[in-house]
Amino acid sequence: MPAGIAPEIYIAIAVVVLIALIGFVGRRRKPPERTDVDTGPIPKVEPEPRATTAEAPGAEAPPVAAPPVEVEAPKPSLRDRLTKSRRFLSDRLANAFGRAPDEETWEDVEAALIQADVGVEAATKITEDLKSEARERRITTAGEVRGLLAEELVSLFDTETDRALTFAPQKPTVWMVLGVNGTGKTTTIGKLAADLTGRDRKVSLAAADTFRAAADEQLQIWADRAGAELVKHQPGADPGAVAYDALQHARAREMDVLIVDTAGRLHTKTPLMDELAKIRRVIEKEGKVTEALLVIDATAGQNGLVQAREFAEAAGVTGVVLTKLDGTAKGGIALAIERTLGIPIKLVGVGEGLQDLEPFDPKTFVDALLS
Ligand code: GDP
Repeated sequence: MPAGIAPEIYIAIAVVVLIALIGFVGRRRKPPERTDVDTGPIPKVEPEPRATTAEAPGAEAPPVAAPPVEVEAPKPSLRDRLTKSRRFLSDRLANAFGRAPDEETWEDVEAALIQADVGVEAATKITEDLKSEARERRITTAGEVRGLLAEELVSLFDTETDRALTFAPQKPTVWMVLGVNGTGKTTTIGKLAADLTGRDRKVSLAAADTFRAAADEQLQIWADRAGAELVKHQPGADPGAVAYDALQHARAREMDVLIVDTAGRLHTKTPLMDELAKIRRVIEKEGKVTEALLVIDATAGQNGLVQAREFAEAAGVTGVVLTKLDGTAKGGIALAIERTLGIPIKLVGVGEGLQDLEPFDPKTFVDALLS
């Protein structure tokens, strides 16, 4: 110890050094901040479902200062919206797939498909194909059978067909919307219009269902919600005249799309199909109807198919909008429609809101149904 320095000073220095050392070691022992692991639940941003694939320009960003989250649209929402159908099929298939496939498995699969409204003939065919394919590929586990069933169901849809809605090369594009009353025509028109105006397209609606009381009032509500214009006449007026005026209006105002609502039932002696053909003729004198969309209510099951067939045969239908899929346990009707009518399902309605319309994709649909 150098002379002249008091031992207390040495003790004080030693204490300070010791405290500093303890602090340092303590800091080292704390776990490092990790940036590569999940540090808690990330808020899930649900995409707004859209009728077509492009994102609406000018859509507002969510007011959340969270890290960007990759969202794949629209699969998650379709799966969620099909909860009823999913539960229905998965519950029944759980019986079938609870063991290695045997004869009873195939019977259970067939019964589940029939109950899900696929149709008896189609259900039998699917099951037969499934059975022979499973044998050929030596499939022994329930998981593999489920995968095979998914493949089989997707293959029954026309996977090559173009399901996008067709626009005309010149303005305005004209789409007609057809179907029995109560299937969801007005709602679908509102949703379609909202999707289009959300993409900065100018949209007009034509209230050519002049037979149903208050049809135009209902359409007006949807037009207002969607930011579209509405052309209407007096109740009972000639639907062809409404369509004609609406086309002139759409031309004059340079609208991008004109959507024509039509009657689902008439109170006159003229057959409905003749009336629909007349509306079309009026439009096609000066333009072209690029889509005649038939709205079918999924909850009506096989009954809906019978009504739809008449429209499909007479009205030059280009695509089906299958509504109320959120409200049915019988999603198999989608398959029955394509097989029976031979017309592609282009859109599905999955709720009563403005955004509840989605493009139909067989694979996404089947995945959602069986997941
Ligand atoms: P329209 O008579 O064919 O014009 O049918 P509407 O558009 O008036 O619809 C009839 C009812 O079905 C209304 O209560 C709608 O809210 C309802 N609706 C329409 N589309 C859907 C859908 O996709 N899901 C559900 N859950 N309800 C729907």
